[in-house]
Amino acid sequence: ALGAPLLEVHDLAVAYGGIRALKRVSLEVRCGEIVAMIGANGAGKTTTLKTIMRLLPIAAGRISYDGQDLAGVATEEVVARGVSLVPEGRAIFVNLTVRENLELGAWNHKDQRTIQETLEDVVKLFPRLGERMKQEGGTLSGGEQQMLAIGRALMARPAMLLLDEPSLGIAPRLVADIFEAVALVAASGTTILLVEQNTRLALKYSTRAYVLRTGEIAMSGSSKELANNEEIRAAYLGG
Ligand code: ATP
Repeated sequence: ALGAPLLEVHDLAVAYGGIRALKRVSLEVRCGEIVAMIGANGAGKTTTLKTIMRLLPIAAGRISYDGQDLAGVATEEVVARGVSLVPEGRAIFVNLTVRENLELGAWNHKDQRTIQETLEDVVKLFPRLGERMKQEGGTLSGGEQQMLAIGRALMARPAMLLLDEPSLGIAPRLVADIFEAVALVAASGTTILLVEQNTRLALKYSTRAYVLRTGEIAMSGSSKELANNEEIRAAYLGG
């Protein structure tokens, strides 16, 4: 139901070998929200998303999705339960066509009609992909590859989408298209957790945000409040 807690992260700690990347991260994403996680390079944003996807071990703390603990859950099962990640750097298959890349995203679905309908939805969202279905992924522009990566994640029909730096290395004109598409995805009922170094964009498109600083939540609040906060303005919005 709209507004019910969907993802709950409680006192999460994660380490790479001896290096503690997350010390104590708590956050919550409710159904229908677009929540942003902002913060400098190395603050632990990617680590948080990877750990939610169960790609990294939990050192301490708890992650629950839809009321269920994800501690012993494998990544495929996290996806099957409704969470999809669009990784930083996009990671599309460069030698496969746009269509093939998208179809791979639907691996957890068997019904061909559902897959076809989802594909049509993705093409409606990103008409540029529709025009390039037979083109190899590697020949797309950076922005188009980001659209493909998001489209592929949507092919799993997720209830929750985790986005890692969708604006990274993309022409400003396409960045706006991508964020408008993300807003449409959210409006159609998909809950979104957005990691973004472009603080201005992140706060513009999200409802609430968390500021991550060296593995800890330094601040959180409504995105409007944070955009007007002096400390945030000085540190992340260039004054
Ligand atoms: P960026 O925006 O630069 O990706 P981030 O906020 O996503 O930053 P993380 O990638 O989560 O940050 O990194 C958090 C910390 O963990 C950093 O200090 C980083 O150097 C460290 N780290 C990340 N991946 C590894 C790894 N595979 N091995 C060792 N340390 C790592």
